[in-house]
Amino acid sequence: MSDKPIYKRLLLKVSGEALLGDQSFGIDPAMTAKIASDIKSAVDMGCEIGVVVGGGNIFRGVALAAKGADRITGDHMGILATTMNALALKMAIIDAGLECVVMNAVDMPKITQTFSQNDLDNHMENGKVVVFAGGIGHPFFTTDTAAALRAVEIRADALFKGTQVDGIYSADPKKCPNAIRFEHISHDEIISKGLSVMDTAAVSLARDYSIPVVVFSIHSDNGLVNILNGHGHCTIVEA
Ligand code: UDP
Repeated sequence: MSDKPIYKRLLLKVSGEALLGDQSFGIDPAMTAKIASDIKSAVDMGCEIGVVVGGGNIFRGVALAAKGADRITGDHMGILATTMNALALKMAIIDAGLECVVMNAVDMPKITQTFSQNDLDNHMENGKVVVFAGGIGHPFFTTDTAAALRAVEIRADALFKGTQVDGIYSADPKKCPNAIRFEHISHDEIISKGLSVMDTAAVSLARDYSIPVVVFSIHSDNGLVNILNGHGHCTIVEA
């Protein structure tokens, strides 16, 4: 086992679904504690970490729009959901023994810091874990796109996307037992094959700034650390 992580500065994307645990709605404290513990193990290896958190465990604007309501208001509600998740994750990360700050794409000065590049650079240089809330701060976007954007802004060596399965498959492995898992794939192949791992805007942003995307199971024991040690189960997306 190597002590030196294969990527030093990471942007970790945690979906709202990952925070559900066994519940159908809301935040399972066991899941925030597990994710915080994985982050702590990576920091102990020398990694610097930013986290973008989703909101789908609480609210998605598109679900409201499907019932005929206003999409923009729905997306604002989704942005608030990401902020709740970010606060829950921050508590767990502090409980795990790390320093942590939430930076929000939307101004909520009584609750979170507002994103600024200068403050971000200072936080990361001081070894704090930065949790990004609010997506990119505008409706019609996703927190996957925010993850790619924040990965560029923190100058990440890789974007880690924690999912329900251990990588990118040729088809949904829960529905197609013959689906194969890719070890490596390019950003362009994800787009051309229409693989539904992240939205196209996120994949193309990562491609344009040469950021590898590592897709792994957020539920696996020591999944993150094993990948950082060079022997984890995952799909690596790179040119
Ligand atoms: N959202 C948004 N702009 C953004 C990011 C998110 O409007 O930049 C809203 C949108 O309604 C979205 C919800 O927040 O459905 C939750 O984000 P997302 O669906 O990306 O969360 P995840 O699927 O990762 O849990």
